[in-house]
Parts: sequence; C-alpha cells; structure tokens
Amino acid sequence: MIPLTNLPNTVSIREVGPRDGLQNEDRMLTTAQKIALINALNDTGIKQIEVGSFVHPRFVPQMADTAEVFAQIERRPGVIYSAIAPNLKGAQRAIAARADAVQVFLSTSESHNQSNVKMSIADSLSAAADIAHTLKESAISFEAVLSVVFGCPFEGDVPLERVLLIIERLLAMGAEQITLGDTTGMAHPRLVQAIILGIRERFPQVPLRLHPHSARGAGLANVLAALEVGVDRFDASLGGIGGCPFAPGAPGNICTEDAVHMLHEMGIDTGLNLPKLVECARRVEELLGHEVPGQVIKAGICGHIPNGEPRPWRAAAKALYAS
Ligand code: ZN
Repeated sequence: MIPLTNLPNTVSIREVGPRDGLQNEDRMLTTAQKIALINALNDTGIKQIEVGSFVHPRFVPQMADTAEVFAQIERRPGVIYSAIAPNLKGAQRAIAARADAVQVFLSTSESHNQSNVKMSIADSLSAAADIAHTLKESAISFEAVLSVVFGCPFEGDVPLERVLLIIERLLAMGAEQITLGDTTGMAHPRLVQAIILGIRERFPQVPLRLHPHSARGAGLANVLAALEVGVDRFDASLGGIGGCPFAPGAPGNICTEDAVHMLHEMGIDTGLNLPKLVECARRVEELLGHEVPGQVIKAGICGHIPNGEPRPWRAAAKALYAS
C-alpha cells in the first residue's frame, strides 16, 4: 500500500471555538462579541458551528448567554448551528433557542462524568434517552459527544468495551453522529486508529467525528491517523483555544486554521476560506487579549501574501504537480 493515498477527498470541520474554546477562557466575551464572531465565521464557508452549551450557569458561567447568542446570530441557509446539553432541561432550552442539532455529552469514565456533569454514566444515558425522545418530536438532530475516549485524566486507559457499550445504547436511541473526544489530549495516532477500527468492527455504519485536543502536541497527527481509517469529520477551534474546565491539563482544541491549512496543502477540500479563517482567529486573539496557540496565524499561509492571494511561484509549483 502506498502511504497517504487512500484519504477522503473532502472533510467537514465543525467550529467549536464559540463553545469549547471560549468556555475555558478567563476573559468572558460579551454576548455582542460572541454574536459578531459567529457572524464573521459565517463568511468563512463553515457549515457547522457549535454556538454554545446549555449547562448550569454556575458551572460554566461563560456559556450563560447561549440562548441570547442563538436568538441574535445571523443564520445562513445550510449552516448547522448546534448546542451541547447534558440533560433534558438543557436540551429543552436548546430546542427553545432553535438549535439545529443538539449533542448530548457524557464521558466514557465514571470519574470524568462525575466531574464534568455531576452524574453517573448510567444517569447520563437515561438523560440521553429522554433528550432523544424529546428531539424526535421537534425534528432536531440528536447527536452524542463522548469525552475522554482516548484516556481519562483520573482513571487512565478507557476500556474499548465500555466505549462500545455506550455507543450501542446511543445508536439504539437514534444518535445520528457519535463524536469521539480526546478531551485532555491523551490520544496518539495508533490509539486513534485502534479505537476507530474497534468501533467500526462492531458498528460498521456509525457516523464518527473526531474531537481532538492538542494538549500534548499530537492533535494534527491524530487527524491524519483518523483520515487514514476513513474519518472525514473533525472538530476544531479558531486559534486553537479551548479545553475542558473540569479536566486537569486540558487546554487546546486543535486549531481550525492550522488543520485546514494542512488539509488544503494535502489536496483535501474543506470548503473553507483559509484567509477568512485566519482573520477570525486574529479577531479571537484581540477579543481574548492574549496570543492564541495556533501556528498559521504566526507563520502565515504557505505561499500566500498576507492578503491571502497566492504568490505566483505557488501557482507555478501547483501546475508542476498537476502535470
Ligand atoms: Zn473539547
């Protein structure tokens, strides 16, 4: 087999910066700033934006205004504006806010689930069943996000069998997508492939999305590993901001513009306008008042002058490859 030839031609990126990114930042953006950021993201061609979460504001005060954000963002046709919710009450608030998709979130380890959503996995699964039932009546997509699939900061390795049991229950409830979260950046490429292949062996048709974190620098390597086993959906965050406030050492979603840059250079289409994404990442940096971990924002787009136009030598090089 020739390496790196059997990869998906297109990849879908869900921007999770407004939720996973901002919830881990000390500086709280105003509602108007969040709305302006999401409206700017609309111009990048992004098709999925995680707008916020419906959790108790005492636990995640950064997300307390998610309903107001939903009410005031400009909604482009064909774009899915989603929310996450840990329980029925949160899902009902998401429905009232007219979220296009609701993701229930739970962990694959008891300790992280207790820390994150203050309940057992069994209770989270029964909440998921209630959410699924309610969403069916509202014709809103029901999806699931699993945390710490590739390792738990409290318990270490997570048995694949437990991940499979949870996925089995969620699929039986009608989950349209399962997102595998590397919440604290404990994954590595071989583990990513082993878990994805293990899940596919049991559930060949399951629509999987990877939610990588770059806490230990393996984020984009894990994306490549997942691409090799056919995953074509990824979560990423502008500038690489984000993390999990309830997991020690969790900072850093993979950076959207870095991931898109790598994919585009590899000839994999994302449908996204990279210079516009970089503009959005700069806006995030300004709003947060600190440098973001992303690399492209510092190094620039390969072969492009700062306004995003390709350099002539770049076009010539591409033509050479094509011939
Ligand atoms: Zn995350």
